[in-house]
Amino acid sequence: LTSAELEGVRAQFPILARQVNGHPLAYLDSAATAQKPLRVIEAESAFYRESNAAVHRGAHTLAGEATELYEDARRTIAALLAVDENEVVFTSHATEALNLVAYALGTASLGRGAGASAAAAPYGLHAGDEIVVTELEHHANLIPWQELAARTGATLRFIPVLDDGALDLDAAATIIGERTRVLALTHVSNVTGGVTPLEHLVPLARAVGALVVLDACQSAPHLTLHPRELDVDIAVFSGHKLYGPTGIGVLYGRAALLDALPPFLYGGSMITTVTMERAEYLPAPQRFEPGTPRIAQAIGLAEAVRFVTEIGLDRIAVTEHALTERMLAGLARIPHVRVLGAENPAPRVGLASIVVDDVHAHDAGQVLDEAGIAARVGHHCAQPLHRRFGVTASLRLSLGVHSTADEVDRALEAVASIRPFFGFTEGAPA
Ligand code: PMP
Repeated sequence: LTSAELEGVRAQFPILARQVNGHPLAYLDSAATAQKPLRVIEAESAFYRESNAAVHRGAHTLAGEATELYEDARRTIAALLAVDENEVVFTSHATEALNLVAYALGTASLGRGAGASAAAAPYGLHAGDEIVVTELEHHANLIPWQELAARTGATLRFIPVLDDGALDLDAAATIIGERTRVLALTHVSNVTGGVTPLEHLVPLARAVGALVVLDACQSAPHLTLHPRELDVDIAVFSGHKLYGPTGIGVLYGRAALLDALPPFLYGGSMITTVTMERAEYLPAPQRFEPGTPRIAQAIGLAEAVRFVTEIGLDRIAVTEHALTERMLAGLARIPHVRVLGAENPAPRVGLASIVVDDVHAHDAGQVLDEAGIAARVGHHCAQPLHRRFGVTASLRLSLGVHSTADEVDRALEAVASIRPFFGFTEGAPA
């Protein structure tokens, strides 16, 4: 983006006008949740002011308008992903989407109970089967699989991380095998920003007929995400990290798979016929959207998708890449600062997690906050990966479409000041 375009983008985010601790806010926490452009806030608000009604089956005008807006939001997401609209399920967030898939596979494993049709049986897991994840995973793409394994008797295995933060592809080739039924992995690590080499891993799963579940939370805001091109069966992301509202997530599922899988939650809006004894379910996506859905949130997310696609995700990627390089080069020059996964040669998106010698991440984060810089501290819901790196916590700087070189430079200066602030004299920049 040109500097004029960047100014135009920034002007659309009301929160960026804020001062924090006497400084202009430098929001470097987009990987946790993105800020919202005014048009997203207004799209949600306009729905409540003008068209609010429950969707589907309403006879009145507002219900018709609400349904049209909600289904139009689904079409917008489908276009973003280059998939069919019936392959897009709205959930509360990525966490729910991943739980939905794991739970549905668990129901399929039972081979009985509501919705576990014959079509679902081939997807069931049993003792001896294996679920494969990676050591990079966010807890949201780990714990549901731990629980699925516990419920079905399947075994959970993981592809280990090498010292540089890359996945061990040689190990992957032996771990993914005839017993593998599911490969669940992240597209981009929320700790290192490294892009997973799907081109090496997905074919291994395909060769043994395993389902591939992709956690696209950290890629959707930064890269073009086309699940069919990536050859994955499921891809999930959260709306709030893509400049959309909280309370909305997206589950893409290959049509034949979604239609075979049993529902996750049961109730209204998902059925064809109900008797006192049993119920029959609508096809996807309705079978996975029981109850009154997240209407305003879906409409807000569709506006956010229009916002990023109008700028162009490919152009956003180029600008963010340059800023990422500036950030990494700057961090490398600061003594006693370690960037987790810095040596990994894989492409990466705009984030870096650092450890400052002798200073706890929370204290480091305080120094940045004093300078008006918002950064995340802790384990970022990836305890196993932090353990692998031999640390318990890190400080994460993450970029968004509105990030500037000046903000990165301010963050670098603040990071360089951390050790001196705590009295370590030999910590000045080289
Ligand atoms: N996976 C990854 C890689 C993430 O970064 C996050 C959010 N930190 C999640 C899953 C979970 O997203 P949510 O909390 O919106 O469900």
